[in-house]
Amino acid sequence: MKLLELVDISYIYHSLDGETEAIKEVNIGVEEGGFTAIVGPSGSGKTTLLKIMAGLIKPSKGNVVKPDGVRISYMPQHDQLFEWRNILKNVTISAEIEKTDKKAAADYAEELLDKYGLGEFKKKRPSALSGGMRQRAALIRTLVSKPQLTLLDEPFSALDFQTRLYVSDDVWKILSSEKKSCVMVTHDISEAISIADTVVLLTKRPATVKAVYKIGLDRTAPPTVRREQPGFSEYFKTIFSDMEVGDE
Ligand code: ADP
Ligand code: MG
Repeated sequence: MKLLELVDISYIYHSLDGETEAIKEVNIGVEEGGFTAIVGPSGSGKTTLLKIMAGLIKPSKGNVVKPDGVRISYMPQHDQLFEWRNILKNVTISAEIEKTDKKAAADYAEELLDKYGLGEFKKKRPSALSGGMRQRAALIRTLVSKPQLTLLDEPFSALDFQTRLYVSDDVWKILSSEKKSCVMVTHDISEAISIADTVVLLTKRPATVKAVYKIGLDRTAPPTVRREQPGFSEYFKTIFSDMEVGDE
């Protein structure tokens, strides 16, 4: 079953300086249980595409097809944890805004924080957490609403290289043990190959789909292990040579 389908999506930004064509006739289907990485050079239109998937902006052309009842949650490029709220209050913020069952949301949030090593930080402010912990907290916040599909915008880009490796293992472990389907946007080809089963490569702006790759690495292994598997570097070489250089 498809959780989401983009059909002939185009998007144009209008500003005082004129028009920017960001997305052009993009078709992408997101299967339940899958992990899709969307890769493209910087400025190609990845964030725009993810915001369209999240329903935050309406496409200029085309349709977003979503079966009734499919819940989607979106994790923006910067973690946007609020310093004036503690971690528990940060991860339950959408339940407050949406006026859903606050007690149930708080219980589930506590369960996730305990399970993923943030139990003792519930009452701490975001600045007390490391970059990796903040990222886990931001992910838990997107999971509290129990979405079927999570959309992650460059979830590791603010982290240094070493941290990025183990945080991507953490994020993958959380998403797979909570059985979430996922679409992640990144400019990093290795990151995409190591975590996803499908990689969609975008051209530079306006983004069109250049190619779709099925990644045949062991999906039960965490990203750091997949990076060592035979085949990884072949996928890298292929996608790297197909990727266009960005203009920004
Ligand atoms: P990416 O996430 O791949 O780096 P974006 O989706 O953020 O790319 O942006 C795609 C293009 O649209 C870029 O050229 C960017 O400058 C432009 N753009 C993004 N947001 C706006 C906006 N609010 N107004 C005008 N142009 C924008
Ligand atoms: Mg972006």
